[in-house]
Amino acid sequence: MDCIFCEIVRGNVPSDKVYEDELVVAFRDIRPEAPVHVLIAPREHLAGIADAEERHAGLLGRLLLAAKGVARSEGVADAGFRLVVNQGDDGGQAVQHLHLHLLGGRKLRGLG
Ligand code: AMP
Repeated sequence: MDCIFCEIVRGNVPSDKVYEDELVVAFRDIRPEAPVHVLIAPREHLAGIADAEERHAGLLGRLLLAAKGVARSEGVADAGFRLVVNQGDDGGQAVQHLHLHLLGGRKLRGLG
């Protein structure tokens, strides 16, 4: 099977999308770890942040700006939220398609 997030981006696998534009798709995590847990991914397949190159600088900025917008639309921007990027085995990355985790809606402690 193709990359699961590529399939979500293409609409071939169902997801609960909360935002999308020409570069970025944001959808709810199927196993939420907070009241708000949204994944923000580029449409372009990049295995992880370690694969980002100089030419992706604009795209990375758009991911962060999309996360900011989703935080606002999900109602957590003022209370605060966390953005996480997992990379590789030690980073706990399970899906090899770059994504930001947006977590909020409760007090987050530690880094785990
Ligand atoms: P990571 O460990 O950073 O690779 O996180 C991958 C995240 O993707 C996990 O939090 C999963 O719960 C989530 N996930 C996996 N498959 C799906 C899916 N089909 N729809 C939404 N979230 C998913």
